[in-house]
Amino acid sequence: LSALSQEKIDLESKYGVRNYHPLPVVLSRGLGTRVWDVEGREYLDFLAAYSAVNQGHCHPHILAALASQAAKLTLTSRAFYNDQLGHFEERLCNTFGFDRCLPMNSGVEACESAVKFARRWGYEVKRIADGRARVVFARGNFWGRSVAAISSSTDPVCRNGFGPFVPGFDLVDYDNLEELEKATSHPDVCAFMVEPIQGEAGIIVPQEGYLAKAKEICEKNRVLLIVDEVQTGLGRTGRLLCSGHDNVKPDMVVLGKALSGGVFPVSAVLGSDEVMTLIGPGEHGSTYGGNPLACAVAMAALDVIENEGLCENAEKMGHALRDGLFQNRRTTRKILSDVRGKGLMNALQIKDVYGDGSTAWQVCLEMAKNGVLAKPTHGDIIRLAPPLVITKEEVKQACVVIREALRVV
Ligand code: PLP
Repeated sequence: LSALSQEKIDLESKYGVRNYHPLPVVLSRGLGTRVWDVEGREYLDFLAAYSAVNQGHCHPHILAALASQAAKLTLTSRAFYNDQLGHFEERLCNTFGFDRCLPMNSGVEACESAVKFARRWGYEVKRIADGRARVVFARGNFWGRSVAAISSSTDPVCRNGFGPFVPGFDLVDYDNLEELEKATSHPDVCAFMVEPIQGEAGIIVPQEGYLAKAKEICEKNRVLLIVDEVQTGLGRTGRLLCSGHDNVKPDMVVLGKALSGGVFPVSAVLGSDEVMTLIGPGEHGSTYGGNPLACAVAMAALDVIENEGLCENAEKMGHALRDGLFQNRRTTRKILSDVRGKGLMNALQIKDVYGDGSTAWQVCLEMAKNGVLAKPTHGDIIRLAPPLVITKEEVKQACVVIREALRVV
């Protein structure tokens, strides 16, 4: 590490809360699929800020919208109307086929908002007795680390030492329809919130048709299906929404991350009139939610996904990536036990050949040394999720680096 990198790392270490364990790379610039560190070394970004930078770093169309709106008006709060929010809401609803949407900032806020809508629907429409509404989640879920989010979590790292937890949450195994059937048949259940592919759990892809069957079960038991597409949405898996692979129209969809192309925190919940009209003035809100800067940026971010055919490219490049990683399996078999994913949401499952849980970390360090950035999750999984603007050449280049790292570590 150079003195410059070390200085930045030391500052964070001294003054910041140590709630992350980053790879020792200090970045100062990004463009498209590439980022540069403070020493000027170039990398292909295979994390894309946990799938927020689907449109590529510093996309000129999004930056132009940012600059132009920033010079005019950035924040009004919702105490007044602004001239961007209505257009953004119309665009979101038309793009995803819903009646209404609620703008928020981060993914966790939007997911929590969806839970509030579901509880309200449970009381007012399903007529659940006051204070009894229950929401079902899948084990391994991740929707952030607020008190509500960790209350549904099965990850001891984010739960331990933070109780007491929010009541009224039930858990079922992911990809288990029998358990879902049983849990949702309880008359006090108002919703099932689920990721179409579990991201933070390690890119867990359910059996084909899982979401469609889950929707059937929810409909039968009169339970809302909330699909958390914060990570899977906006082209990541080769469709605008991952639930599109199953032809499922959820009762609510949650979006975040790539809704702004990594430029600004923007999230949203979308749903039908039946649900979304149940919350009125003063019952929910956010100072920054729906701010004109966020709206302008998000509309430009949606333009890029549409104009540049990013869903189609994610689908194609995803195949190229998985094919490329499976080449020369003879040399990587010792350490690579699985490659899985959909579109450009992929993971390598690494065998712990060192026996101390550090193997995937070592692979990532080796990849970084050769110009590809990725980060291990749960010790043995490496997520591969580059910006969706990636080219075939770049996929090839990355595959060479990744295969070589898997060979030498
Ligand atoms: N939902 C899913 C599926 C996520 O992957 C994440 C973040 O990784 C969130 C919600 C929370 O989003 P944020 O970190 O913007 O609050």
